[in-house]
Amino acid sequence: MFALAARRMGYRIHVYSPEAHSPAAQVADGAVVAPYDDHAALGAFAEGVAAVTVEFENIPAAALQLVAERRPMRPGPLALHTAQHRLREKDFLVGAGFPVAPYRRVSVPADLPAALAAVPLPALLKSAAFGYDGKGQYPVTNDQEATAALTAIGGEAILEARVDLACEFSVIGARGSDGAQALYAPIRNTHQAGILDLSLAPSGLEPTVDRQARQITGAALEALEVVGVLCVEFFLTTDGRLMVNEVAPRPHNSGHLTIEAGATSQFEQQVRALCGLPLGATDLLCPAAMVNLLGDLWRWGEPRWPAALAVPSVNLHLYGKTQPRPGRKMGHLTALAANPTEAEQRVVSARSATRVRGDPEL
Ligand code: AMP
Repeated sequence: MFALAARRMGYRIHVYSPEAHSPAAQVADGAVVAPYDDHAALGAFAEGVAAVTVEFENIPAAALQLVAERRPMRPGPLALHTAQHRLREKDFLVGAGFPVAPYRRVSVPADLPAALAAVPLPALLKSAAFGYDGKGQYPVTNDQEATAALTAIGGEAILEARVDLACEFSVIGARGSDGAQALYAPIRNTHQAGILDLSLAPSGLEPTVDRQARQITGAALEALEVVGVLCVEFFLTTDGRLMVNEVAPRPHNSGHLTIEAGATSQFEQQVRALCGLPLGATDLLCPAAMVNLLGDLWRWGEPRWPAALAVPSVNLHLYGKTQPRPGRKMGHLTALAANPTEAEQRVVSARSATRVRGDPEL
């Protein structure tokens, strides 16, 4: 989606990925398929482009460093280094004065008693490295489960209190190379099994919550020196407290609806920031809803796309991934409507309409 936005604006795209046939490579002018520790390939790649961005933050630090030394890389190593490790990320959030759920670092079993004393149960033990979409997370309701979860993670983790959620939402913001900021209105998110399922805008949040969340996002963009797009994921608890869950210094799944509904999409915003252009307007032009299409939907055969597209104002995005594994994000649907409730109904019914015979959820 970034590559498509960049091409529309006349840029040529080169992709570096350890994986052959990556979605971005399918629409790029050139692609290098090599591991992140192939420093010769990385160096040659960097020499061949004018500027570099990343589409996910879990790229080894040495690879990022090598590229950043040769070409402008946006976002820079600080934002990526912070976001790719849960403990560093939480420590950054606390240091910046942002509210977060209580947590403690746990790296060996001897750390557990103190952590369990400090963090109220029920909690989650989350792996510190390479966690996203609820991966590497284990529910903990007692000491035994905590020990088992730490063994399963097999490395550094954080024990984090599970908070009662009234809702989850995100704020996507962009920061240009001149420090200018552009923030989108909050987007309301629903997750299934730790994976984003549905995003909705406008969010209908209380103005005070909306304002506080935007302030935090602006401050996070600044503190992490982001040039590009940053998503801040928030929890709103049932007793009305706002907490930051995590930050992602890149275009985010919850912002996909800005492609159809935003004056400027989050991907164009990333192109603009990367290329030193003025940021675009962030107005929401129309209420919108987005649902993810996970690999599970393919289980009984190719989903019935014409049935989804028969629903008014529904757009289909398929990423060109070849293996529809369960839980894998294969694409998404966006619906526009006169209000968010109708947009949600449209997009949910469009996804249901794709289910094929044999699917028990049909
Ligand atoms: P994460 O990968 O940390 O964003 O977690 C994925 C999802 O799990 C979140 O979007 C929430 O729905 C849920 N979750 C994560 N941490 C917590 C928590 N401390 N309390 C309640 N729910 C959580």
